[in-house]
Parts: sequence; structure tokens; C-alpha cells
Amino acid sequence: DKEKLKKEDTLALRRKHIGPSCKLFFKEDPLKIVRASGCYMYDEEGRRYLDCINNVCHVGHCHPHVVSAATKQMAILNTNSRFLHDNLVLYAQRLTSLFPEKLNVCYFVNSGSEANDLALRLARTHTGNKDVITLDHAYHGHVSSIIDISPYKFNHPGGNGKPDWVHVVPVADVYRGKYTDKDHTLEDLATKYADEVKQACEAATKQGGGVCIFYAESMQSCGGQIVYPPGYLQQVFKHVRAAGGVCLADEVQVGFGRVGSHMWAFQTHGPDVVPDIVTLGKPMGNGHPVSAVITTREISDSFGATGMEYFNTFGGNPVSATISNAVLDVIENEKLLEHATMIGNYLKQEFNRLKEKHMLIGDVRGQGMFLGVDLVKSRDTREPATAEAAFINKRLKEQYVLLSADGPYRNVLKFKSPLVFSLDDCKELVDKLDNIMTEMEQAEKAALGKVIVNGSVEHTNHQSQKVSNPSPNEIQVKV
Ligand code: PMP
Repeated sequence: DKEKLKKEDTLALRRKHIGPSCKLFFKEDPLKIVRASGCYMYDEEGRRYLDCINNVCHVGHCHPHVVSAATKQMAILNTNSRFLHDNLVLYAQRLTSLFPEKLNVCYFVNSGSEANDLALRLARTHTGNKDVITLDHAYHGHVSSIIDISPYKFNHPGGNGKPDWVHVVPVADVYRGKYTDKDHTLEDLATKYADEVKQACEAATKQGGGVCIFYAESMQSCGGQIVYPPGYLQQVFKHVRAAGGVCLADEVQVGFGRVGSHMWAFQTHGPDVVPDIVTLGKPMGNGHPVSAVITTREISDSFGATGMEYFNTFGGNPVSATISNAVLDVIENEKLLEHATMIGNYLKQEFNRLKEKHMLIGDVRGQGMFLGVDLVKSRDTREPATAEAAFINKRLKEQYVLLSADGPYRNVLKFKSPLVFSLDDCKELVDKLDNIMTEMEQAEKAALGKVIVNGSVEHTNHQSQKVSNPSPNEIQVKV
């Protein structure tokens, strides 16, 4: 565990040599993590943090089975992916067996962004069309082609706005979206939101680009842990395919059993929702950079028919394939889907118990280990409680619990821990959250004249309890 540098020296070197736009978690007081195990991360002083934010170290930090598989394979062979190797094809066979039958061709790449970039190329080649339909607030990656289809980036500082071949539709957020459950049934909401996609298809066709692809996460993470109403994706896929496009499920955050009931979150929408392309990433290598595009024979044949070879130096190398395979072993051996369902149900019930107690909680949503707690200033208006969310995360961190907030207003507490989160971990998180919310209520009652600004309680001279929110654009969050 010995540090090579003092924390302030690490920070100074980082400032000197690392690009300034590479943001850290908790940038006011960043953490220096030196080791981790299971759901716990340890800083340079040996302090233990409960990790509720790491959707990468899926089967637990430094899982011994994954570490041992990786190190053994590294000692035998690692090379580029242009040689025959059993690990690659065996993993491809195992991975595709977890998908509906038509999704049986893989491309292995190294990051979620790369997977989404390749998916876009596949769709363009296969459909011959150009236009992309994307959900508002979506984030699909950091490469130029994908920033173009990610409103989370192109609508924010430094972004170049929406290209004309991109059509942004409102995300089917039934709590605070364009249409809500205040005025409509869930069934109506599915149709209303799907009709927006139909209109986008018409616009793309009229404009001349034609519909290439509908791009969406199966549940939207950056938008604030959004679960679409039942029937939405069925209708959307129908409209998109009728217009000549294909449908993609980005499972980079929500795949590999995070939702508990299924391996892939698109499966929660019913057996008739089968995307044409699926992208995978983060949890696939438990921290090792490996990701994939899964698609149909027809789409991959269209791509092959162009004659252009596809070569990816690191994608699917023997070590990556071995690690990915070991991750699947752990998911199966430790029955992590069942565990995610059990823990998710318990946590959701506990968050709902807190909702009865604390008016700050407007909505609790999600499933498995993909949960969101939407904080509001008023349950009537559903006005987002942005500063309160930042305050809670700051206080949690002081109490050694790492949680984040997301959504366009950064007011949704976002739970996405490794799947090995235990019942004791749930109790620690819920008790601390409960105490902080109680503390905030007491402070609010007791101290007229205190306001919460940018995540910390400050004294003011005003006789006011107004909470001032940073605008969403002012806050940079990691996703
Ligand atoms: N898709 C989604 C839904 C993501 O959340 C992310 C990363 N946050 C990506 C794609 C891009 O993945 P990567 O950072 O591995 O390129």
C-alpha cells in the first residue's frame, strides 16, 4: 500500500501533466484511492469507503478469480487479435448464447465509446441512411462521432450543438419528462413518447438523410436513472424499422445483469424487444478495458461486403477475452443476478421508507442495482433539488460512502454499485442517508438564515431559506 507520492504531490503532478478537462470525482477534495476489494475502496490513509458508484468493477474490486485468470494469461500470451486464439472464439460463443438468437456476431473493442462508434458505422453501412435519432440527455461516449449524437455533451459547454442529421427526441421520463404520470396513464405515455420518435422518423425521411439508427440506452443512466414506460420500446422499434432504420441498445452501463431480472436491460421490456445492435463496455472486464458490439449476421455481412477490413489491435486479445470470460464465471458462480434482484428490492423498499419520512424524496425508481432517488423541493411542482443532492453526496463522502448525482438537474441520487453489495452495505448507506436528510431538515427548521449553496451549508445575513442551485451546465460530473 505504500504511496510513491504524498497526496498533494500527486495532485500537483496531475495538474502539471494531465489535461485540465479530465475531471476528478469530488474535485474540491479529490480522493486518492490506493487499493480496493469487493465494494470497498481504501485511500492513502487506509480509510475505507463504501463504493456505490462503481459500475465498472462489477463483480467486486480485484475479484480473485478475475485477477488470477488475468495474470495467468498474461504470463502465457498476449498479442494482437490477428492470430487464431481459443479464448476469443469461446468467449464470443458464450457471450452470444446470452442474447436472443439473432444477435450472434461480435466485434471486440476497448471502450464503450469505441463500441458505439463502430455500431454507428455498421448501421450506416447496412441501412445506407444517415440520420440518427437519439434521446435527450443521452451520453454514448467521448469520440467525435458519438459526441455528435450525445446531447449530454453537444448541448453543454464546449459542445458544438446538434448536427442537422441528428434528431433529439424527449426521453420517456414519466416523472419529469415532456409528458408525465400526473396527466397520463403509463400506457398513454408509452405511445406519446413513441410518437415523438415516429415524428423524428418522418423528419429524417423528409430531410433526405433517411433513418439510419435509433440510439438509446435500455434504461437511461445519465438522464437520471430513467425507466421507460412498458410498451415504449416495442412501439419505437416498430416505427424505426418501418422507416428503414435499425435499433440499438446501449448496455454499457446497464448490461451484464445490473438490472437483476435479466442479463440485458432491454430484456426487461419483453421478449419481443430485440435490438439489431447492442453495445457493451464498463462491467465486461471488471475494470480491464474491453468492450463489444453484438449484432446480426445480416448487419455484419453488409459491413463485410464493403470490402474494407476491420482491424482493432487490442480488441479481443487473449488477455481481454480471458478476463471477460472470468467475469461471466463469477456472475454465474456467485448467482449475481439473483443477488442484484434481492439487494435491489431491499434497497428500493428502504429508499421508499425514507420517502415516507423525508419530503425531499420525490421519486424512487429503477430495478436491481440500477436505482435512482429523485430529490425535489416540492412534491407538487417536482422542482429538482440540485444543491441538496450535492450536499448529501458531500456529507456521505465525509462519512465514507461514495454516491453520485445525475440527470439534467443533477438532482437524482444514482445508485450503481458493484453487484456484490451486501445487506450490511445497504444498511450503512440507508442509515447514513436517513441521518443526513434528518440533519438537513433540522438545520432548515432551526436556522433561518442558513442556505445551502453549491453543496455546503453556509451562513448568510438573509432571513431566507431559499436554496440556490448551480445551473446544470456549471456542474461537470463523471458518468
Ligand atoms: N455509453 C454509456 C451509456 C456510457 O455511460 C458510457 C460511459 N459513461 C459510454 C457509452 C462510453 O464508454 P467509455 O467511457 O468506456 O468510452
